[in-house]
Amino acid sequence: MGLEETVPLSLQFIGCGDAFGSGGRFNTCFHLVGDRTNLLIDCGASSLVAMNKLGIDRNAIAMMVITHFHADHFGGIPFFILDAQFFSKRREPLTIVGPVGLEAWYARVMETAFPGSSQAPQKFDINLVEIGAGQSLDVGEITVSAYQAVHGPPDGPYHAVRIEAEGRSIAYTGDTEWTPALIPAARDADLFIAEAYFRDKAVFTHLSLNTIEANLDQLRPKRLVLTHMSEDMLNHPDGRLYEVAEDGMVIAID
Ligand SMILES: [Zn+2]
Ligand SMILES: [Zn+2]
Repeated sequence: MGLEETVPLSLQFIGCGDAFGSGGRFNTCFHLVGDRTNLLIDCGASSLVAMNKLGIDRNAIAMMVITHFHADHFGGIPFFILDAQFFSKRREPLTIVGPVGLEAWYARVMETAFPGSSQAPQKFDINLVEIGAGQSLDVGEITVSAYQAVHGPPDGPYHAVRIEAEGRSIAYTGDTEWTPALIPAARDADLFIAEAYFRDKAVFTHLSLNTIEANLDQLRPKRLVLTHMSEDMLNHPDGRLYEVAEDGMVIAID
């Protein structure tokens, strides 16, 4: 070990709520930071508000990894981009990795939020990188892998993701009902963040804690944290059987 300071890899929940603000929680946005890592996993509609509340330096964020184009995971991007342009005075490039269709969805979300903004030149480069389910790609030293999630019409695009950074692995289900694709995504991950929308209600397109429990022996994460909970799950006494995300909570990944 050298004498230079190192930043241990950690993840902060900027937002761990569902689409509807259940429990007063912000929309999905996780911040992974380390020595050579500074990225967001999803950027839901309320994420800039939450980042301001937590005092997060947006200009240091080099990359976003997007699981799908629902507003509670993707809708914060226009606010982030306009803040970067006009207030945070960003100059460093920003890479956004997302499902196939990202380029069209990026223009669509910008134009819907702020008409004209999709064509406005920025003072920083925006690199839109599309990834298909079943693919892995390297962005610098970070590897992003995408897995097919089941969250609506077949093929989505909806992803679960696994990120390898600084010798650690972080997996996130995104929004999905149970699919065997979650097994390779989560297996042996140092941190597995799993949607637990309901305690035991089996619904299409979302996960219940029962389903996760039934498959834990196959998933085998080193650490499991539940997120994206509805009022049903937030108020369920069994919710505390497992580690549960809170907005602002920081997890060291060692
Ligand atoms: Zn969602
Ligand atoms: Zn969704």
